[in-house]
Amino acid sequence: MNCEEIKIIIPSYIKHTATDQDISKVEEHLCICDSCRQHLAQLMNKPSAIPMPQKETLPEIPMKKDTNILEYVMLGIGVVVLLFVVFLLIKG
Ligand SMILES: [Zn+2]
Repeated sequence: MNCEEIKIIIPSYIKHTATDQDISKVEEHLCICDSCRQHLAQLMNKPSAIPMPQKETLPEIPMKKDTNILEYVMLGIGVVVLLFVVFLLIKG
């Protein structure tokens, strides 16, 4: 993470819209970088200086994927077929 990348994240960091990953990146970087600490302080004192995102994007809600269910169904069918084959073999 370099200063340019951190400065891009800082506005969303201030507005608490950054991801947990980004927040920890920013905080790690602030520990070692005076320049970005000052940049953050400036933005905090002048909230109007925070560039507004052009479009608000809602965080994606994780959905249960149909593919997972399909995988379980396929696995179930596989097990049934296997048991059927074993049954036939045992029966002779
Ligand atoms: Zn920096």
